[in-house]
Amino acid sequence: MTRKGTGSSDEGHDVDTSPPVSDRVETTTCYMCACRCGIKVHLKDGRIRYIEGNRDHPVNRGVLCAKGAAGIMQHYAPARLTRPLKRVGERGACEFREIEWAEALATAEEWLGRIRASDPKRLAFFTGRDQSQALTGWWASQFGTPNYAAHGGFCSVNMAAAGVYTIGGSFWEFGEPDWEHTRYFMLFGCAEDHASNPLKIELGKLKQRGVKFVSINPVRTGYSAIADEWLGDARDATEWRDTHFRVRGPAVDGLRAAFLDNWIETDPELYDASIDRFPEQPVAGTSVVQCVRGASETGRSDVATLTRSLLNLARSRLRIATAYFVLDDELRASLIDAAERNVRIEILLPGPHADKRFVQLAAEGEYERLMEHGITIWNFQPTMLHAKVMTVDGALANVGSANLNPRSVTWDEEVNVVAIDHDLAQLLDAQFDDDLERSVRIEPGRWQRRAAWHRVAERAIAPVKRLF
Ligand code: SF4
Repeated sequence: MTRKGTGSSDEGHDVDTSPPVSDRVETTTCYMCACRCGIKVHLKDGRIRYIEGNRDHPVNRGVLCAKGAAGIMQHYAPARLTRPLKRVGERGACEFREIEWAEALATAEEWLGRIRASDPKRLAFFTGRDQSQALTGWWASQFGTPNYAAHGGFCSVNMAAAGVYTIGGSFWEFGEPDWEHTRYFMLFGCAEDHASNPLKIELGKLKQRGVKFVSINPVRTGYSAIADEWLGDARDATEWRDTHFRVRGPAVDGLRAAFLDNWIETDPELYDASIDRFPEQPVAGTSVVQCVRGASETGRSDVATLTRSLLNLARSRLRIATAYFVLDDELRASLIDAAERNVRIEILLPGPHADKRFVQLAAEGEYERLMEHGITIWNFQPTMLHAKVMTVDGALANVGSANLNPRSVTWDEEVNVVAIDHDLAQLLDAQFDDDLERSVRIEPGRWQRRAAWHRVAERAIAPVKRLF
């Protein structure tokens, strides 16, 4: 076998392990977010095959984020607008037809002409990001309207002015922190799409130097995930209870497969097995790990099989923490069967901070029947419980994006990781115990005495719960 690129040879076969990915490379700018990284776009037979960061570009210096790489998807999305659309139905009815550019421009000319002939000041003209503000003003003054504005006046220039007046400096397009001498870095409310790659590059260096990094942000961003001051431990209602995992080793290939499964649905050409490569994933530990993905297009996913198998295989204990708990007949029967086999079942669900009350009502409609079979149910009190963790017999852990509801296990695109790993299961069980300390157990006697309106609401939601 001859491996081109490595020089090693074997009789009989020719395998080119480094085939050229393209026959042309164009240098341009990524517009997938406001960061504007430099990119090199590889084309083969005139079609985009691959996007890489441009190492010579001052903004990103070769770094490309996942969104940037997904630029191919945007380019070839079937939903991409390629021609002007004209509304043909009532406003709001979403009825349009494609028209030619000549017709679109003639329509604009006719409308603008009418305004200009009567009173040009009736036109308010605004241009969005990356348009020349000078041209905006020039065009508006030629038209005869003083009512014009551009992106800078709404966003970036204000941001820069606020920075100068408050902390004495600005950021992003208008300036940079003193990365080199920074000893303590505080990031207030930064959107992920502004200065994204440059910020991440420098944050990486700060972390390597041991600089303390604090992220203060009303939304959950990746920046907070690497902060030294982590304020997300479900201490109050603003901090959701979640569990995050890092997966290493061959199981990563399973996660990639799940990603590719979706990626290829967008356009089969987006993955070319003759070109696209993923790095090897050496074995990283001793856990036996399987990655299981849901697939909405088949209508019956492997996640459904996994969930039912685990419920049926449990011998001594099942612990389930899930954000959304809605049972179909099969899931309910599996849980009750397990309880009748003397499996101790504890279910931890969101309490007063459930983010979807109607889903919670669907869950509550099941409490009575489950508790009759000795299943214990707990409601987490401090905040929304969003973790999806199941442990089986203290030896197996099932974690991922799937909740215990028909939607998750059957229809949605989900991916779970199952690990036969005693230590991991013990760790998750210990966390489960901690969570129970902050939860209220549903007492069967008290639950039976719940208000009549509550029962009515549970019954009202039942006919549609299969949609949750
Ligand atoms: S941060 Fe990512 S999406 Fe934004 S411009 Fe750069 S590569 Fe594109």
